[in-house]
Amino acid sequence: MLIDSYDRVVDYIRVSVTERCNFRCQYCMPEKPFSWVPKENLLSFEELFEFMKVCIDEGVKKVRITGGEPLLREDLDRFIKMIYDYDPSIDLAMTTNAYLLKGTAQKLKDAGLKRINVSIDTLKPEVAIKIAQKDVLANVLEGVEEARKVGLKVKVNMVPMKGMNADEIVDVLEYCKARDMSVRFIEYMENQYASKEISGMKSDELLGVLSEKYEFSDDGFDGSSPSHYYTMKDGYRFGIIEPYGDDFCKQCNRIRLTAEGNLIPCLYFDEAMSIAKSVREGDIKAAAAVLKEVVRTKPEKNRWGGDESEVSTRAFYETGG
Ligand code: SAM
Ligand code: SF4
Repeated sequence: MLIDSYDRVVDYIRVSVTERCNFRCQYCMPEKPFSWVPKENLLSFEELFEFMKVCIDEGVKKVRITGGEPLLREDLDRFIKMIYDYDPSIDLAMTTNAYLLKGTAQKLKDAGLKRINVSIDTLKPEVAIKIAQKDVLANVLEGVEEARKVGLKVKVNMVPMKGMNADEIVDVLEYCKARDMSVRFIEYMENQYASKEISGMKSDELLGVLSEKYEFSDDGFDGSSPSHYYTMKDGYRFGIIEPYGDDFCKQCNRIRLTAEGNLIPCLYFDEAMSIAKSVREGDIKAAAAVLKEVVRTKPEKNRWGGDESEVSTRAFYETGG
């Protein structure tokens, strides 16, 4: 079992398979980065899988594939199948913008994918164009329907922003509720790559909007996710992710791997250790030692202190959000 220095069990790894993306979301990657990581620096699925085996053998129970946009990586179902065949009990999930899901959902499900989280920030095509800087909404919504049809469990992420999609919080919740999909509102996290124009909504502002329309109880955290959960009178549950909140890091059970093999103990920390050399040389013992060291050095808290001047230097498209 992997236990960090603050007695948190680390049993979840998020694996970014590419930093590239087909969207340019204002809060994540408004400009195409100056240069992409060269393709030859990316770990192959075989190399990533060697490391997944180490993680699973050490007690990891949940693997989430993310990016950038993970569906841009060719034959992703092959990587999913490798993990599924090694241990079918792994909670195998993916976070995607859903643009390429139509036509691939069945293949992913057949390979062993269980769940997806989809980013839906708006239900208005013209607002989607503003946020993603591309006409994306029709494909996204069709992708979601197809995923549901093939039996993938779908959760939705929304980043509410003032003057952009703040007036759609209730609409997105209702869209999800009607489809029995849970929704999580993510507080916008400051980062130096995001558009300077963005003004995110904090949890108390979100709750203010929602309480005008609904009655709900505060369930707190359930220990398995960073979401603060709320249950409405009819039993529907929604979540708010508050990275600036005091309790966010207490629940943290995760580490992150970038597409080129940097293992990161915390979303908001520049420290990372590479597993690339060890897996490329087939030195599994060395890869396992890096894993243990990264877990050992996992910080108690992220560096989002609520201080506006404190802005993360790491790109979310690189770490997988
Ligand atoms: N491309 C996929 C997607 O958009 O779902 C996966 C990668 S994306 C980096 C993962 C998650 O990070 C998405 O839910 C996105 O909304 C969230 N995200 C990205 N930048 C963010 C920011 N600055 N603040 C809050 N959430 C952010
Ligand atoms: Fe791409 Fe996801 Fe970032 Fe949007 S949030 S630019 S879809 S990686």
